[in-house]
Amino acid sequence: MNRPVEIQQTRRDERTEPESEVATLKNAIESKLLYTVGKDPAHASVHDWYMATALAVRDRMVDRWVETTRRTYAQSEKRVYYLSLEFLIGRLLIDSLTNLGLIGPCRTALHELGVDFDAVRNSEPDAALGNGGLGRLAACYLEAMASTGIAGFGYGIRYDHGLFRQIIRDGNQVEVPEDWLAFGNPWEFERPEVTFNIGLGGRVEPKGPGGQRFEWRPSEYVVAVAYDTPVVGWEGKRVNTLRLWSARPAAPMQFTDFNRGQYQDAFAEQVRASSISRVLYPDDSTPAGQELRLKQEYFFVSASLQDLVRRHVMQHGTVANLPKSVAMQLNDTHPALAVAELVRILIDEHKFVLRTALELTRATIAYTNHTLLPEALETWPVALMERLLPRHMQIIYQINALHLAEVAERKEISPDRVPALSLIDEHGGRRVKMGHLAFVGSHRVNGVSGLHGKLMRESVFRELHQLHPERITHITNGVTFRRWLLECNRGLADLISEAIGAAWIGDSTELERLMPLRNDAVFPDRFLEVKRRNKERLIGSVLRHLGVVLSPDSLFDVQVKRMHEYKRQLLNILEAVAHYNEIRAAPHKDWVPRVKIFAGKAAASYHRAKLIIKLINDVARIVNNDPIARDKLRILFLPNYNVSLAELVMPAADLSEQISTAGMEASGTGNMKFALNGALTIGTFDGANIEIHDHVGPDNIMIFGLRADEVAARHRAGYAPGQIVAATPALAETLAAIRGGVFSPEDPQRYVGLVDDLVSNDHFLVTADFAAYAAKQREVDALFQQRSVWAGKAITNTAKMGWFSADRAIREYAAEIWGARAED
Ligand SMILES: *Cc1c(COP(=O)(O)O)cnc(C)c1O
Repeated sequence: MNRPVEIQQTRRDERTEPESEVATLKNAIESKLLYTVGKDPAHASVHDWYMATALAVRDRMVDRWVETTRRTYAQSEKRVYYLSLEFLIGRLLIDSLTNLGLIGPCRTALHELGVDFDAVRNSEPDAALGNGGLGRLAACYLEAMASTGIAGFGYGIRYDHGLFRQIIRDGNQVEVPEDWLAFGNPWEFERPEVTFNIGLGGRVEPKGPGGQRFEWRPSEYVVAVAYDTPVVGWEGKRVNTLRLWSARPAAPMQFTDFNRGQYQDAFAEQVRASSISRVLYPDDSTPAGQELRLKQEYFFVSASLQDLVRRHVMQHGTVANLPKSVAMQLNDTHPALAVAELVRILIDEHKFVLRTALELTRATIAYTNHTLLPEALETWPVALMERLLPRHMQIIYQINALHLAEVAERKEISPDRVPALSLIDEHGGRRVKMGHLAFVGSHRVNGVSGLHGKLMRESVFRELHQLHPERITHITNGVTFRRWLLECNRGLADLISEAIGAAWIGDSTELERLMPLRNDAVFPDRFLEVKRRNKERLIGSVLRHLGVVLSPDSLFDVQVKRMHEYKRQLLNILEAVAHYNEIRAAPHKDWVPRVKIFAGKAAASYHRAKLIIKLINDVARIVNNDPIARDKLRILFLPNYNVSLAELVMPAADLSEQISTAGMEASGTGNMKFALNGALTIGTFDGANIEIHDHVGPDNIMIFGLRADEVAARHRAGYAPGQIVAATPALAETLAAIRGGVFSPEDPQRYVGLVDDLVSNDHFLVTADFAAYAAKQREVDALFQQRSVWAGKAITNTAKMGWFSADRAIREYAAEIWGARAED
């Protein structure tokens, strides 16, 4: 098969003389290896070659980067600042090469140097500065802002250690520190001259005549140092900036202590200060962990605001027109302190009165909500805030007073709604509601899918919505098709480009032109052939890493995402056990062979989620060693889920598991990546699954189970899972086996608590959805046996996913929230 994208790439490069392109890159890589990495080509390791290649590619970005910055200043473009505590960026080499149109030349250049391109790309560490969907969204949006021509800046923290690396030992998750910076990071530029002092603690003193004004005198300072990573958009259109902050002590060490030989004291401050950017999400189950987390949030918010206000004033002379040139998006409530910090800067440093300061703040800031789960809604104890951020706490009280005065003027809002509207939660220990603070300080508050927007209006923000009915909107998430199709599934990307041209890469709606090809004489077979090759690629990796042999004829059924009870990996594994029982009861029936693949990390302190990982591995051990069943059903847990693993697994999936309890998954983006790569979704009517359903049509998605309103009704009416179990023999048998230790003979009690909780409580309605889910799985089997019918549905999924591009989402943000202009 010829490779049209490759050809196109070569053609574009031909215009700029491909020979010289290859030669230039080759020279650049050699020179970086020698003079920057400091290695003789004869003794260079793969990683050395990776460093040299990345540095050479980075140089190519810098020219465009400088040009982009000049353009932003010259045309006074509106700047969009995306504040996020997480950026799950993954590897950058392929992304950068792809968007610069240099994949072909780079492969050739390395080949001519006697180096294997794929070995080089795989030696890049996976930058995991995030937990899951929220952080990955931030990374997709940065790329999409650069691709749609928006002057976008990402602001976050440069964690020394990102999300832990997950090892599976005896079926248990073991967390080990991740060390992405151990061998240096070739993509970033340290900016030692861009530093800001971040105050903490201390007290607030009245100032000026009549004590009208206040001054915050922090008791300690930490220094934020900037590190910039260029973010290149599709076809190198623009190169935006991801600026991450690293924490440094204000004074390197105490000389007096050092000279007295008190070395620990001498460096105590240094240790305390740099701990702020040490790790992503320190375990916040302890008070000390919580305090560190709050410091992290304030640290990056304060550094980012000082930076952007300084830039704005430098260019425009005043902050009075800030919203005209600046939009700020808060990715969830982690940066919600930006509201109080901006108001503080405007009042204390620029002499605005509160009302004006709040108006300017609100016109600048917008907030994306990512979850309605009560336990995930951020609140901070007032006492902690008063100790760490006394001036901000004072300002939050003032904002609250203004806000509640507005409430009082509105006659239709009954006074008994005031507690629900207040920024302060007065129940058992007073706390600041960060979601409310973000809402009150924003001109737009968006959900991330249609259903999620609706539920926001009805639940957490019901009263605030009544007060500000125009404020809540929703923008359904999107993913960048460059990474999630073009780069991770080259076979499919080439096939598509050959069939309909390569315009889809920049304009995803073009994918719809694949629809007529469902009935083509050869296209469906070639589509399935690509899927098979992707499965073989995954099979090879599983064999190398886990020593397990799989067949590409099996249906690859994949659930990869963070481990969480609401995502219901438990439902999946229970159904697998029931299916296993079915197979054992009728071993000679024509079962469709299935490989069930799981991957995902559980938060270190989330014991139930870790127990579910153990259960999956326990069930896998029994099933995979059972000679009766193992050709019909295989179960795998792939360790250390991250972006790179997602890029390997998603193109190989036939079936995508999106089975959250309806109403609990705000959007999901994994669901989009799978469908884009031609997997069928089995899922509940939740989050963006609903919109995927609307786009691909009901015949091309496998929807089952309770809807969000039905889930709410069950919770209201009181729910008796025990009765459901009793009435569902397959489930009862499954639970009895797990409870009785069939899968944990060495520790028969292991799952007693898990099963008993399910039968008595089942907050996530696993038992309620079990029968519908199991029945749907057998429908999937029947469909999978009809090869051409399946192919048609898979092609439809790819063809109809255009709308889920991050480019579409970013254009909506630009038009509806930021007032920024995206290019067509
Ligand atoms: C896309 C993605 C996610 C989000 O997946 P969901 O299924 O939407 O929760 C999480 N982690 C990684 C590495 C991803 O690529």
